[in-house]
Amino acid sequence: MRLLLVEDEEGFAEALCASLKMEHYITDWAKNGEEGLSQGLSNIYDAIILDIMLPGLNGLTVLQKLREQGIHTPVLLLTAKSGLDDKITGLDLGADDYLTKPFHREELYARLRALTRRHSTTSLQELSCGDLYMIQGSNELCCKTNGSHLPLNGKEYQLMEYLLRNAGQIISREQIIEKIWGYDTNTEYNNVEVYISFLRKKLLYLKSEVSIQTIRKLGYMLKKT
Ligand code: CA
Repeated sequence: MRLLLVEDEEGFAEALCASLKMEHYITDWAKNGEEGLSQGLSNIYDAIILDIMLPGLNGLTVLQKLREQGIHTPVLLLTAKSGLDDKITGLDLGADDYLTKPFHREELYARLRALTRRHSTTSLQELSCGDLYMIQGSNELCCKTNGSHLPLNGKEYQLMEYLLRNAGQIISREQIIEKIWGYDTNTEYNNVEVYISFLRKKLLYLKSEVSIQTIRKLGYMLKKT
């Protein structure tokens, strides 16, 4: 799961990112509304934690612009204690939930679990395409047709999860780098190619009808062949 935290208070944000890491979330931090908006528009996040009180573009404006651009990533707003109007406006603008500062970390985790669960389309959190499927949280890639299965390592798993969630759609190498390695990275395009080739070998071994196709100059697409 990859999260975006939009929050200008540095100490608070750093502590939050650190504790989210302990909960196995990968969190990107945007320090202001403008950064939050541009990162949110990449549409690579499983949820966005969005503080309302931000310098420049405030959280409500960021939320409004994201929704206007067709970004439906679940948004959890962080509001001040006195901000009843903000909460109402936020929910009207398409926020999925809100949390009043200060809050207990456990409550944040519970709300994030609920948000990401609600957003996922299948009850068992099984991601599939054609005869290929993976159960979220397990690290096994399986083929329904012949019952074969293989373990995936961390990055392979994240990449396969991303491909499965966007099966039938083109995903660019830039999106893959942002999603799997994050913004602050020196990852080169050939890293993506290396992991794509690992996954292709595994798909061949599984004898799945699904493959990762290269779409010239645009990226990759997972689809039935
Ligand atoms: Ca703030």
